[in-house]
Amino acid sequence: MTDDTDQRIAGLSHLRRAHLDKGDAVPLPITLASMFHLPGDPVGFRQYGRYDNPTWEATEEALGHLEDAPCVAFPSGMGAISAVFMATLKAGDRILAPSDGYYTTRLFADRFLKAFGVEMDTRPTRSFSDGGFDGYRLVFIETPSNPGLDICDIAGISAATKAAGALVVADNTTMTPLGQRPLDLGADVVVSADTKAVNGHSDALFGHVATRDEGVLTALKEWRKLSGAIPGPFEAWQVHRGLETLDVRFERMCASAQVVAERLAGRGIATVYPGLEDHPSHNLARRQMRRFGFLIGLTLPSAEAAEAFINSCPLIQPATSFGGTHTSAERRARWGDAVAPGFVRLSVGCEPVEELWKALDGAL
Ligand SMILES: *Cc1c(COP(=O)(O)O)cnc(C)c1O
Repeated sequence: MTDDTDQRIAGLSHLRRAHLDKGDAVPLPITLASMFHLPGDPVGFRQYGRYDNPTWEATEEALGHLEDAPCVAFPSGMGAISAVFMATLKAGDRILAPSDGYYTTRLFADRFLKAFGVEMDTRPTRSFSDGGFDGYRLVFIETPSNPGLDICDIAGISAATKAAGALVVADNTTMTPLGQRPLDLGADVVVSADTKAVNGHSDALFGHVATRDEGVLTALKEWRKLSGAIPGPFEAWQVHRGLETLDVRFERMCASAQVVAERLAGRGIATVYPGLEDHPSHNLARRQMRRFGFLIGLTLPSAEAAEAFINSCPLIQPATSFGGTHTSAERRARWGDAVAPGFVRLSVGCEPVEELWKALDGAL
């Protein structure tokens, strides 16, 4: 796939230079401030810590540079997702979401949106377009879906949804802007849990929304300012730092995942990975993804076999969540996901791949 992502990655580490005066620190400082010096007319200046913060602004600039779209930062992935719902929906609206996507998104709609008169329908990612999009105000997609790693056609769904007059929102958490570019494929809004690979060090929660839609952008900024769902400056700084190495981490993780997936499949283990030729949507994945990701689904014969694999492998960190520098895994059925009891979601980290494979192979 040819696009300008590599040019954007190269420019990322040099963005700050345009803001520097002679003698300034080259790295981004953390600004911890609720107050700003503000005598007289306040218009046009930073006013209050719930409205503005220079550290968020720098992180939003870096994320926006990679997304090629303005970004609004939030204190978590769910903070970003719920902000999109609250800023764009009204009573009487219907929304459509994947039945196999991130569970908390559906739970939020069920517990809170419903009470405000917004109804949600769900469909499996693999057959997401079946039934069309008439009557929806917002269509939420997540591809590859988490944890089943099914794929839907972002460009096709975006075109059909737009024709039906709805907004397309893509949760791009598992791919990051370096792995897949939903806005360029026609989606109106991207949401991301930067808690995962974007921060990448398993030590912060963070999220962002990217959109080229001026109306949505204005509503999101107002939602953040009035609801108070603002990110912490320290977490913003952590994500800014994480972004500096996202490309090298993500490239290593995806390349290793391809090797590991092929070898798991070669051992006769039921393995789902978009980069495997037998993935049901491999050709679509080739068309719309720059990389095939770092998540692998593998199914072992039983819950016990899966737990033994996860807990005995010296290079697997047993944990929920994913996208860290360390390989991690968990059995998703423990949370009630609709998967086999022995289904393991493996998040491939940055360990040298031959060492990683030796450890995985030994634990199997
Ligand atoms: C983790 C995750 C979220 C939520 O992110 P938090 O930072 O935990 O709120 C949303 N979508 C996907 C796909 C995720 O994996």
